[in-house]
Amino acid sequence: MPGNVHVIDHPLVQHKLSLMRSKETSTSTFRNLLREISMLLAYEVCRDMPTTRVAIETPIAPMMAPMLDGKKIVLISVLRAGNGILNGMLEILPSARVGHIGLYRDPKTLVAVEYYYKVPDNMGDRDAIIVDPMLATGNSAVAAIDRIKESGPKSVKFVCLLTCPEGIRVFHSHHPDVPIYTAAIDDALNEKSYIVPGLGDAGDRLFGTK
Ligand code: URA
Repeated sequence: MPGNVHVIDHPLVQHKLSLMRSKETSTSTFRNLLREISMLLAYEVCRDMPTTRVAIETPIAPMMAPMLDGKKIVLISVLRAGNGILNGMLEILPSARVGHIGLYRDPKTLVAVEYYYKVPDNMGDRDAIIVDPMLATGNSAVAAIDRIKESGPKSVKFVCLLTCPEGIRVFHSHHPDVPIYTAAIDDALNEKSYIVPGLGDAGDRLFGTK
């Protein structure tokens, strides 16, 4: 296992991922599975987050109860497929703030070009979780992290559904400090930069555009 990569190999995650990979799975089922898996990934990603004690009263007694400061978390969706993970994570992190970054690959230079960028104020107070289902070549993930780091967040994590050794290598050659959370590390990239065996084009499967 490469360093700074967390593979969430829980049977529930693996079962749902297998259903998502199948080409027989419909758009609506795919979308729902991604929402469910994203909640399970969020559970792991938040494992080391600090809690503060807050005074509450149960029906029986007062107590100092541990709470996560959800407003400090910012989920950054890499458009457009990142929105599938974003929606699931927001269900269990409802107070998280949200940013979006849109990148496309210039067909001539193959460089990631930004077409949209909007993040909350005060990024210096926030822990950023960047979400994009497929960490394939690593180029757009690196560009997204370059951009988010410019805003100076307290910490950065990256969450995907699938990746491959080449994507991890590129990613960590630029950002060795950023942990990757993924449901699986697949074999390789094909000549069209799709992950093999993968699940196809995550955006098309999520939005039914093909
Ligand atoms: N993006 C996708 O949607 N699928 C891949 O396999 C690689 C990149």
